[in-house]
Amino acid sequence: MKKLTHFIAGQACEGRSGRYAEGFNPATGEVSSSIPLASPAEVDAAVAAARAAFPAWSEMPALKRARILFNFKTLLDKHQDELAALITAEHGKVFSDAKGEVVRGIEVVEFACAAPQLLKGQYTDQIGGGIDNWSMRQPLGVVAGITPFNFPMMVPCWMFPVALACGNTFILKPSERDPSVSLRLAELLTEAGLPDGVFNVVQGDKQAVDALIAHPDVEALSFVGSTPIAEYIYAEGTRRGKRVQALGGAKNHMVVMPDANLDQVTDALIGAAYGSAGERCMAISVAVAVGEVADTLIERLTPRVRALVIKNGMEADAEMGPLVTAQHRAKVVGYIEDGVAAGAKLVVDGREQAFAGKGFFLGGTLFDQVTPQMNIYREEIFGPVLCVVRVPDFAAAVELINAHEFANGVACFTSDGGIARAFARQIKVGMVGINVPIPVPMAWHSFGGWKRSLFGDHHAYGEEGVRFYTRYKSVMQRWPDSIDKGAEFTMPVAK
Ligand code: NAD
Repeated sequence: MKKLTHFIAGQACEGRSGRYAEGFNPATGEVSSSIPLASPAEVDAAVAAARAAFPAWSEMPALKRARILFNFKTLLDKHQDELAALITAEHGKVFSDAKGEVVRGIEVVEFACAAPQLLKGQYTDQIGGGIDNWSMRQPLGVVAGITPFNFPMMVPCWMFPVALACGNTFILKPSERDPSVSLRLAELLTEAGLPDGVFNVVQGDKQAVDALIAHPDVEALSFVGSTPIAEYIYAEGTRRGKRVQALGGAKNHMVVMPDANLDQVTDALIGAAYGSAGERCMAISVAVAVGEVADTLIERLTPRVRALVIKNGMEADAEMGPLVTAQHRAKVVGYIEDGVAAGAKLVVDGREQAFAGKGFFLGGTLFDQVTPQMNIYREEIFGPVLCVVRVPDFAAAVELINAHEFANGVACFTSDGGIARAFARQIKVGMVGINVPIPVPMAWHSFGGWKRSLFGDHHAYGEEGVRFYTRYKSVMQRWPDSIDKGAEFTMPVAK
């Protein structure tokens, strides 16, 4: 069994709180690690290390910081398979999917390597006689990231590469369900030449998060996870004057228009609903079948859901792995029971599929005749459960989606350009795919939902990330030979 640690000031540190969590291999159901849960004193030590590292790191020219990130990117490329295997062993997602996650994380590091360009201010010469005005972006100080289990590498990479490129020092509090990859990232950053204390990892639960929120030296918090916790962290952080970006849960719809190519639709739905066992914040969990398309769609989906290859994610032909924990599996099963009780039509019942061993496996589930009043429609299930809602026309599809409390991702499959354009403009959702089921923005765009899927003003990574992790400053300058004699009592204007 692995004994995990914190990583503070460039060193692996054993937990001293006396509190530990068990880490599991979801494919076998066995305990695979012991994870220390940080006390407030251990959080203090990480913040102190980050604070001590801040002056030198923030003063280092952005180009030099970027060179360290370049080294890090090279190391990440070299260790892709190792990182992906760490993810599969603790999260359960299939190895090829874990590799995809690693690549999407590396892309943000690549983006952050453009630090000198990203931090370049704007300059206006001669705004008035002998006066110039320019702007600069300066780092915030010590910032913290709190991340979910479902992307143990990609989501931390939405945060720390941009934060570090901007000159901040960072404390990562990864999910206690799959924290090994964070420690490996910390080691690789050190190998890349990152000074000690610039990046720290504290393992932990609510106690560690609360200590980060309350710490006076933590300037900003980035959070990704479920909506109730996002709301809590946003409220508690902003109440203390911190900058907070808190990304929450989702219920992502895919509209299927009658003119869509149904072969493409079926492939897209199978991958987007059941890939990573539905444990993606951008997973499609609702198919909105418009008009007469519904019966054919159900006919096509049914055999494909039954045929999903569900097994240990390290096996080459696996399409779907287990759920992350036994508790999470029980929660998803509870939603299936709830859907049946509410009168939804259970077309494929994942509970019926038998699996050998003690892993947290569950078969794919398909519901038809789901209505907007049902819990399985309103709430995030975060498992391999796809709900089909039938609507009469395009306007009803848009109205349905716009009435949902979550607004993270959405997709529309159609071959009509006019419908596609109207959808992209009318839909009140942060990330939109037209014939693209999982429209996760590239590293140089930015990621984020609307409504109760994001609390805060900035989306993650891309230029929005640079804005989040910096303060804007405007400087106006003149020299003595351009200063007129005498006090001015009127509001200064350009002369
Ligand atoms: P979670 O909210 O349970 O945990 C997220 C983080 O918060 C973890 O680090 C956890 O330790 C911490 N935490 C848990 N309970 C806490 C508490 N009471 N107080 C303070 N901190 C607490 O989420 P999860 O189950 O790890 O991840 C799945 C959720 O994350 C889903 O809701 C999913 O939609 C969401 N998610 C959203 C996005 C997005 O971009 N919007 C991306 C990935 C995941």
